[in-house]
Amino acid sequence: MDNPGHSTRAQAQKYVREHFAAGAQYIDGRPARGTSGHTHSVVDPATGERVFRYELAGTDDVDAAVAAARDAFPGWSAATPGERSDALHRFAAVLADRAEEFARAESLQCGKPLKLSREFDVPGTVDNTAFFAGAARHLQGQSAGEYSGDHTSYVRREPIGVIGSIAPWNYPLQMAAWKALPAIAAGNTIVLKPAELTPLTSLLFAEAATRAGIPDGVLNIVTGTGKEAGEHLVAHPDVAMTSFTGSTAVGKRVAEVATSTVKRLHLELGGKAPFVVFDDADLDAAVHGAVAGALINTGQDCTAATRAYVQRPLYEEFVSRTADLMSTVRLGDPFAPDTDLGPLISHGQRDRVAGFVDRARSSARVVTGGEIPQGLEDGAYYLPTLIADAAQDSEIVRSEIFGPVLVVLPFDSDDEGIRLANDTPYGLAASAWSRDVYRANRATREIRAGCVWINDHIPIISEMPHGGHRASGFGKDMSVYSFEEYTQIKHVMFDNTAVAAKDWHRTVFGDR
Ligand code: NAD
Repeated sequence: MDNPGHSTRAQAQKYVREHFAAGAQYIDGRPARGTSGHTHSVVDPATGERVFRYELAGTDDVDAAVAAARDAFPGWSAATPGERSDALHRFAAVLADRAEEFARAESLQCGKPLKLSREFDVPGTVDNTAFFAGAARHLQGQSAGEYSGDHTSYVRREPIGVIGSIAPWNYPLQMAAWKALPAIAAGNTIVLKPAELTPLTSLLFAEAATRAGIPDGVLNIVTGTGKEAGEHLVAHPDVAMTSFTGSTAVGKRVAEVATSTVKRLHLELGGKAPFVVFDDADLDAAVHGAVAGALINTGQDCTAATRAYVQRPLYEEFVSRTADLMSTVRLGDPFAPDTDLGPLISHGQRDRVAGFVDRARSSARVVTGGEIPQGLEDGAYYLPTLIADAAQDSEIVRSEIFGPVLVVLPFDSDDEGIRLANDTPYGLAASAWSRDVYRANRATREIRAGCVWINDHIPIISEMPHGGHRASGFGKDMSVYSFEEYTQIKHVMFDNTAVAAKDWHRTVFGDR
């Protein structure tokens, strides 16, 4: 592999080994080693090299983190919104100062091209932090009223307590931010379990919070397996809420465990986003949008465009132009400045993606890709892949692949296009492509998903909510809507009569 990024990678590896020498847990404001008795390795998916070996968290570490979060809760929840806001503003500034450190660690552990980490993951996280610094001052209950005539009622909005959060490996930094920021802005404290494959930037994030003056114990990280550390966190009696982002299969298990301890639950699960191209669409825009929307983060994006439905008159041209554009995407070293697409997260994930494509070959057409690229076999690379003519009920159309694979199917009527878009259990995101405002507006109403883009696919912004419908989960990340997850409301009722024998008492004793 041509490797102009070699020295940047070597520096990033050295930095990681030195920086995390004290362990991959962050409890009560300081790093710690896990005590499960098992180790795990962060592997660079671009080379297959082991970058960093660490001790996984066990149940004792989860207990220690929950205890630290519980102890920090009274102080943090009693801080004024202004004080929490100031701390979050300082947090945003520390993150911005250390942006390059974060970007390199994220690219090293995920194999993301450095341009994606630098231009999307890290600035998105800084912006999210700045957004919640402002939003922390706008937490409101409802105004008071005399609804009974004899009382004044009002609603207080209060934090919930210790939040136990579990995150996936595809956007480790952004997922840590999406989980932690609304929770702590609202006065909660948190224990976050990142995915075992990718703990580095969650740890840096927590360390930056301490550096910004956020009190010890407010944001804790436990890096352990899902089965041991994850389930213990979800079941923990001192954890008031579970917020989970990951696959629908694991989400179901998390829901079972959380339900048995009566916890509030927020689930951000898998997706299989449709991309609906009507016959009046700007074809050039749709082709560019499909390639970017399908390949972002090597397709390991819960909102990635995965199923393109293209109205019959545009179908063949869409297929051939999308394949042509896909084949220009440059795979390579994530640290090289001209790399567009990095590897998948692991060789296991690459083989899983290859398995989906191989099983589809007998009944669909692989137009481009469908192979491990030559010369890049050491890394977990897979060529951008376009599959046409698959059946709607086939596995490649219905299951979440989580790789650089786009399936294209034709449709005839608008009714059919929208019906097919809704024809999976998922409902996280979707896009529709049209120049006709009525058609586009119909798609926004009738496609059942948490986000519908018109003439674009992927952009997210801190001010707007992200979250699923149907098997993609419930609850929202980002925006002020996320406060609905991380706060609870309390009805406060004052008697206004100052009368001992109140009128309503006669329903219990005495006569009028
Ligand atoms: P995953 O479900 O395998 O794992 C997610 C997290 O859950 C990891 O930290 C894992 O250790 C933990 N876990 C595993 N078993 C557990 C258990 N029994 N109890 C508690 N925790 C457990 O998902 P992944 O492979 O890391 O990530 C990819 C998935 O995440 C995809 O399905 C993707 O769509 C989804 N995702 C969704 C969103 C969203 O916003 N809806 C965002 C990113 C990723």
